[in-house]
Amino acid sequence: MNSFNKSSRRLSPDFQVRLVGENLRQWMTLFAASIREAEAQLTELDAAIGDGDHGVNMCRGMNAVAEKLDSLALADLSSQMRVISMTLMSSIGGASGPLYGAFFLQASHATLHKAELGPADLTAAMEAGYRGVVQLGKAAVGDKTMVDTMAAAVRSLRASCTRHEALPEALRACRNAARLAAEGTIPMVARKGRASYLGERSAGTQDPGAASAALLFDSLAQAVSSLSPSAHSPRPKPMLL
Ligand code: ADP
Ligand code: MG
Repeated sequence: MNSFNKSSRRLSPDFQVRLVGENLRQWMTLFAASIREAEAQLTELDAAIGDGDHGVNMCRGMNAVAEKLDSLALADLSSQMRVISMTLMSSIGGASGPLYGAFFLQASHATLHKAELGPADLTAAMEAGYRGVVQLGKAAVGDKTMVDTMAAAVRSLRASCTRHEALPEALRACRNAARLAAEGTIPMVARKGRASYLGERSAGTQDPGAASAALLFDSLAQAVSSLSPSAHSPRPKPMLL
């Protein structure tokens, strides 16, 4: 990279972007909204290869999280994540409760004493969350679960860190990788969770947990870009033809 690119990178407002407590609450608000919007679709996927409750489970959990957000405003990032974890664990009946709970619990441990997260800190937190899910559920990549989405999201974040990308750019790539990975579960045969009871018949349907995890990373990208300085810079006027 030449020196012009280096200095223009330093000047770009996106390179100043960090995830702070406000972004985390915005992330949860957006995730709750997209889960509500996708409830029927998630239920339909789970009805095809599970027991048809993933939409309802996630809605119950994220509505409970959304109700707590105002009271979290003064808490630090790590404590906010711990409350999110506990709320998901206690309000979701299905397997996804403890799994998403483990994700946020381990992310909470990884962010102890941090007031803001840059690309490397957020990658470490998401990686810790992913490892928490793997440790609890014992699923590997390719087993057709939420782990497929989370693994791809973390891999993408790590690659962005290596390329020294700014946070909004890293999260856009992460969101795209997560979306692709969730779609990639369609042809897979499930080896974990209820869908595994169907064996070969689980192929042909997207895994519901992989789909909800794609929404998790999609809303994370939105939460950071909506508060980043470049999102507030004046947009160029459309050219009149
Ligand atoms: P339940 O299976 O108890 O009805 P949900 O329907 O809410 O719970 O969640 C199902 C999703 O949980 C699956 O689509 C899958 O992504 C995820 N899942 C289930 N078991 C595991 C596991 N052992 N490891 C990782 N994810 C799992
Ligand atoms: Mg289910």
